[in-house]
Amino acid sequence: MKDTADYADNMIAAVRKAASASRTQAILPLHEPVFQGNEWKYVKACLDSTFVSSVGEYVTRFEKALAEYVGVKRAVAVASGTAALHVALRLVGVEKNDEVLLPGLTFVATANAVAYCGAVPHFVDSDETTLGLAPCQLKEYLRDTAIVKQQQCFNSKTGRRIKAAVPVHTFGHPVDIAPLLDLCRMYHIELVEDAAEALGSLYKGKHAGSFGRVSAISFNGNKIITAGGGGAILTDDEELADRARHITTTAKLPHPWEYVHDDIGYNYRMPNLNAALVLAQLEQLPAFLAKKRKLAEAYAKAFKPLEGVRLFTEPAFARSNYWLQTLLLEEGTEGKRDQLLTALHEANILARPAWKPLHQLDMYQQCPRMEMKNAEKLTAAIINLPSGAAL
Ligand SMILES: *Cc1c(COP(=O)(O)O)cnc(C)c1O
Repeated sequence: MKDTADYADNMIAAVRKAASASRTQAILPLHEPVFQGNEWKYVKACLDSTFVSSVGEYVTRFEKALAEYVGVKRAVAVASGTAALHVALRLVGVEKNDEVLLPGLTFVATANAVAYCGAVPHFVDSDETTLGLAPCQLKEYLRDTAIVKQQQCFNSKTGRRIKAAVPVHTFGHPVDIAPLLDLCRMYHIELVEDAAEALGSLYKGKHAGSFGRVSAISFNGNKIITAGGGGAILTDDEELADRARHITTTAKLPHPWEYVHDDIGYNYRMPNLNAALVLAQLEQLPAFLAKKRKLAEAYAKAFKPLEGVRLFTEPAFARSNYWLQTLLLEEGTEGKRDQLLTALHEANILARPAWKPLHQLDMYQQCPRMEMKNAEKLTAAIINLPSGAAL
């Protein structure tokens, strides 16, 4: 790349071309929600019913529709994706001082949920072809680091139990989950799937969110569909689903008027008002997916003539929801990331870098980890482009 300014101009033109010629002057946000279905109707009906809070038909309807869509037995709607992850980890038995394996390259919530359990995040490197947990590196690493005793896995260096692993489908692109499931089985590690970004993505024809013993989805404002704020716990295990419902609703025993609780529960339920909104959003998900796929193709085409960058495309085994369109700066170009981001922002294109890897954040620097070469390389190389379904 010779002249960064010229190069940035070409990038800006490519984004404008792919996103929509009619919006030349407008700000292109990273991911804005689209409300063109039954949102007003359902939210109004919810208000009219006065059942706006933790009880109501929309919560039940949404949970049923979501479970059916993903192909799992049960969905429990909760207040956020982070809450879903926290409870998912509790459900599979993560306890204080356990270690939980997760990618360093993910949103901070994945590690925070581990910390909420009093457990210790243990960072694993990412794979460049999926942007998610690297199965080969993890296999070697576990061979050197983990020992299994009485059907439990321990970190031979720290002595702590490794109770769970949380693969993430980064920006909605499916992680190679089959070898990770095999590894977890072999080492007696529970797999919790962070499918927060991946609703509608498929791995070998099966939905993201259906692989973990328990999985978590997010409906935050910037995700592929939104509840305003919200999340869901998914599982095929009826008992765990009942337990999820119980502890996310303050562990109150059912009774017409008495307040008796049999555990330290959480106030994590999704309000009916949010469920009304997200049910209407779920109805539009197939249309959003089609639009995002088209946008991915348009970006790939528009960026093709540019040297030094490429659009991330789904691996052969996967069908991505393309939640966030992902541009990769190639070898030698990564150093220009921040200059390019600055130029894009000056042109009202609100592109974003990937997260700072979690093992570099103050609160997680001391956590155990393997060598994190790919995660660090990817962070320097990734630019997420405007990706909303309205583009
Ligand atoms: C958004 C997100 C979460 C958390 O979801 P919230 O609803 O924002 O709490 C967790 N993990 C990943 C990978 C996410 O992108």
